[in-house]
Amino acid sequence: MWRRLRIALLLLVLATVALNAWRARARATEWKHTLHVTIYPINADGSATTTRYLDSLDADTFRPIETWIAEQAEHFGIRVLQPVRIVVAPPGTRRPPAPPRERSGVNVMLWSLQMRYWAWRHDDAPGPRPDVRLFALYHDPARTRTLTHSVGLEKGLIGIANLFATRHEHGSNLVVLGHEMLHTLGATDKYDPGTTLPRFPDGYAEPGRTPRYPQRLAEIMGGRIPLSATRAEIPGHLRYTVIGPATAGEIGWTR
Ligand SMILES: [Zn+2]
Repeated sequence: MWRRLRIALLLLVLATVALNAWRARARATEWKHTLHVTIYPINADGSATTTRYLDSLDADTFRPIETWIAEQAEHFGIRVLQPVRIVVAPPGTRRPPAPPRERSGVNVMLWSLQMRYWAWRHDDAPGPRPDVRLFALYHDPARTRTLTHSVGLEKGLIGIANLFATRHEHGSNLVVLGHEMLHTLGATDKYDPGTTLPRFPDGYAEPGRTPRYPQRLAEIMGGRIPLSATRAEIPGHLRYTVIGPATAGEIGWTR
């Protein structure tokens, strides 16, 4: 009896969360109002270098994301005056729950629940309640050579970005944040997971360009600028990336 009641209660909670998540995402991709995105900078390695870097971050640091998305939105006829507004939370030291290794439906759902709870407990950002939360985990490049994968919860409005705590990598950090932000709004990857090469034509910024290589820009969900059929490089800044028609469709810019 109790067991059944507990299961029923759990199912009710899950159904409510799922419904709320669906509503929140539907609202976020209407593009009738400004989307509020909060970035939570987190010191992922506890180092003094990372602390110093985090202290130097402010809203201006991430302004290029706002400008970039506004330009891209205009291109697709989106009329909101400011499609995305970014707020930066004070730097934190606690790391959010790690995403599951296996991305099965149940695992992801449980992790997303944990993340929501964690975000709610650790949310001391100023301003309105965010529509999208991006946790930016900064690592000192002298200690960490390669970063683990960033995650944008597809349709979840929560993303985790692993970034380098150095000015030198600031441009590519913006690219990672932009990519993960779009995942949270429903955009899918447009590269081959085996080779990391952008998929043609969806993952190309200018698929119709002749000659096809080298491309000058990256499609944000393709992730890299294709230089030849077998080589592609990570863009150094958001200004070398565009949102292609396939991604625009996924995030509700075209019907
Ligand atoms: Zn991705």
